[in-house]
Amino acid sequence: MTESEILDIFRKYSALLEGHFILSSGLHSDRYCQCAQVLQHPRVAEQLCAQLAGQLRHLGAAVVAAPALGGVLVAHEVARALGVRAIFTERQDGVMTLRRGFSLEPGEPTLVVEDVITTGLSTRETIRCVEQAGGKVVGAGALIDRSGGTADLGLPKAALITLKIQNYNPAECPLCQAGIPVVKPGSRVKKIG
Ligand SMILES: [Zn+2]
Repeated sequence: MTESEILDIFRKYSALLEGHFILSSGLHSDRYCQCAQVLQHPRVAEQLCAQLAGQLRHLGAAVVAAPALGGVLVAHEVARALGVRAIFTERQDGVMTLRRGFSLEPGEPTLVVEDVITTGLSTRETIRCVEQAGGKVVGAGALIDRSGGTADLGLPKAALITLKIQNYNPAECPLCQAGIPVVKPGSRVKKIG
């Protein structure tokens, strides 16, 4: 699949939204990625993640790790395509941790994946968590990199779609200035394109 065919899939399932949004950071934006809208369809999730896995297969990972919740299904489906296991990290008292008996062998080659890379912060936290557990992170992947590819993880990385989505401080937001009502994602929106 080409990037444009993948974009069509995201649009078809309303996973890329256009409007005027308040992000969890408090910043405003004219686009929003909701990967859960595609991942709720297991066959589509499997197909997209197999493509991502194809871009990362050469790194030789034995485990795929992701931060919960957003990355869990992506790790699961990428791991299925690679024939390896999938684990996830979760926050405990604000700190990313491995729970549920998940563990890594010393130096075990591990991929860290997410649904969306925004700044790379949660990917970096997951990388640190994997390293503290003894694993060796060999690469990172996401369905959508909305940093425009600028999030530097110091590792090989892959994304199905790379977008540069502008964020605005509310005081300087051109959409606010144009009087467009702002919505929290999940509210009324229209598809891109
Ligand atoms: Zn605004």
